[in-house]
Formats: sequence, structure tokens, C-alpha cells
Amino acid sequence: VYILAIESSCDETAAAVVKNGREVLSNVISSQIALHTLYGGVVPEIASRKHIEKINYVIREALAEAGMKLEEMDAIGVTYGPGLVGALLVGVAEAKAISYASGIPLVGVHHIEGHISANYIQAPELEPPFICLVVSGGHTHLVVVNDYGKYEIIGHTRDDAAGEAFDKVARAIGLGYPGGPKIDKLAKEGNPDAIHFPRAKVEDAPYDFSFSGVKSAVLNHLNGCKMKGEPIVEADIAASFQKAVCDVLVDHAMQAVKDYGINKLALAGGVASNSALRAAMKAACDKKEIPLYYPAPILCTDNAAMIGAAAYYEYMAGTRSGLDLNAVPNLKLGER
Ligand code: ATP
Ligand code: MG
Ligand code: FE
Repeated sequence: VYILAIESSCDETAAAVVKNGREVLSNVISSQIALHTLYGGVVPEIASRKHIEKINYVIREALAEAGMKLEEMDAIGVTYGPGLVGALLVGVAEAKAISYASGIPLVGVHHIEGHISANYIQAPELEPPFICLVVSGGHTHLVVVNDYGKYEIIGHTRDDAAGEAFDKVARAIGLGYPGGPKIDKLAKEGNPDAIHFPRAKVEDAPYDFSFSGVKSAVLNHLNGCKMKGEPIVEADIAASFQKAVCDVLVDHAMQAVKDYGINKLALAGGVASNSALRAAMKAACDKKEIPLYYPAPILCTDNAAMIGAAAYYEYMAGTRSGLDLNAVPNLKLGER
């Protein structure tokens, strides 16, 4: 089964061809990061316009790199939520037009289901059930993946997403957008124990997260340094902040593994490419002798291959979308 997958939920215009949900024949990504860096974050109107400029190109490129024709595709998978409505609409409209013109079935995909499914590409042996920690720019979820396409969200963030916290702290210490990879890099030169930032727990919700406190603590630390005339050591701030976030993520994920008795853990989303998080989670999993899965960095951040993997399992389960498929900016995982 060959899937042509399309992704345009945020600031990456992407298309891919995926075979049987696990084998990536092409994975073309046109990133708008350089463009949005000028504004310190994603500007929705600009993102939509850029998607329109690039979408035909990335699809042609994905088919060409795979060495396949559109007629050879069994389905067209497309992200229809969550994300920026104007950005999503570009991919959805394109996918519908191709489906209508070619008669190839359409499968709408949840973006976070895509992030989770990136693990199927990375690890051909991975099968549900497993616990997945989703840490992306807009989401921080602890999910029990009971089966393909069957998700139970057991924890979520009460305020900022993990990636959002990385981006905001990066901006505060002058690293620019997108902050995650820059903090990751700078933290390698800093002392993770230099400054103590809070590890927030949410009362009566052992799997829920809160990252606004640690973000505020970084801002307070910066103000304190300025007022006292003390030097600001960006690398120490980056390392200490990163450690505080990773500690909580590892703690909650390992608690879920233990409580649910599911001895398999996967990471997903852009922050899953963070080197400190991978190392800390690996150490915790090794200690408990449970396998840890995480996608290669290019499959962690937004791409269409992951959408192709998710679309495959939806397609096999009989999911088909009509030409009335619409963009749903706040689509919940597990809803259609
Ligand atoms: P969502 O998937 O929730 O809709 P998104 O698509 O914008 O949001 P992703 O593409 O999954 O998010 O990930 C982007 C986020 O990942 C950004 O917040 C970015 O800073 C963060 N990120 C990327 N690489 C790293 C890294 N090495 N360390 C920490 N964070 C990172
Ligand atoms: Mg992005
Ligand atoms: Fe994403």
C-alpha cells in the first residue's frame, strides 16, 4: 500500500510517499523557519501564503524522489488538525483536489497521531501497546497507545507545551526562534546544576504537566541578575532550565510505565529530538530494563512521512474522508 502524505499544519510544507506505513520512499520538507525568524515566531498569514507557493512543488518532488506516479498511490493522507486553520486549509484543499481529480481515496490524519506514528518508521518492530510521551511545539501529552489508532490521553499540560517553554526561554535569553535546538546546543556548555528551577507537580494529577512556572523562574532569575548587577550566564540558564524540564518529563513518563504495567516507552514531537531528554530517558529506561523508542530528529519535527505512517493504519482500519473534509484547528486526539 502506497500513501501520498501531505502536511501543512504549521510552518513546514511537506509531502512524502510511504509504503506500508513503515518504509519512507521520499520525505520532502520545505521549512519556513528562516522566514518566520524575522518576526520571532510563526506569523499565520505568512505561513498560509508560503504553503500555497510550495505545496505543488513538494508533492511533485515527493513523487519524483520515490520514482512513482500519482496513479500508483492507494490513498492520499493529509493533516486536517490540529494546527493553524489557514495553514491546514492549504493541505486539505490540495489533498481534496487531487483525490477528486484522480479518484484516489482520501484519509484525514490527526497531526499528533502523525508525530506518534513516526516511531513506526524508525522502529519496524514497534507494535502497540506502548506509552508515548508527546512533546511538541503545541502539545505535551502522555498517551497510552492501546492499538493502532487507539489512544488514551492520561496526562496533558495545564499551561505551556514543552516546546513552547523552550522557545520562550530561548527568546528571553536572546537565542531567537526556534529556541529548542538552540537551547539544546548551548546547554552542552553550561552547568545543569548551576541554578535550581522548579519541577512543578499538578496536585492529584500525577501525569499532568505545568511549564509556566519554570518559564517564570527563568525570567525572575534574569531580572534578579540585572538588578544585582550579576553576570547572566546563558549556558548555565539553558542547561539548568533544560534539566528541570527533562526531570519532570522523565519522572511522569516512568510513573506511567510503572502504573500501567506497559513496558515500552516512545517519545514523539519536536522536543523528542532534544539530546538531554533522550539521554535522561534512556538512562531511566535502562535502569528498568525497558526499551525506549524515539524517531530520528528529522522525523521528530514536522514532516509528511509521519503523516503517511498514521494514514496507513487509518486506511487499513477503513477510515476514509469525504470531499467535505475540513480543517479542524483544535481537533482532539482520537476524535474524527
Ligand atoms: P504541534 O505538533 O504541537 O502542533 P509543532 O508542529 O509546531 O507543534 P513540532 O514541529 O513537533 O511542533 O516541534 C517544534 C518544537 O520542537 C519547537 O517548539 C522547537 O523549539 C522544539 N524543538 C525542536 N528541536 C528541539 C531540541 N533539540 N530540543 C528542544 N526542543 C526542540
Ligand atoms: Mg515547525
Ligand atoms: Fe508538530
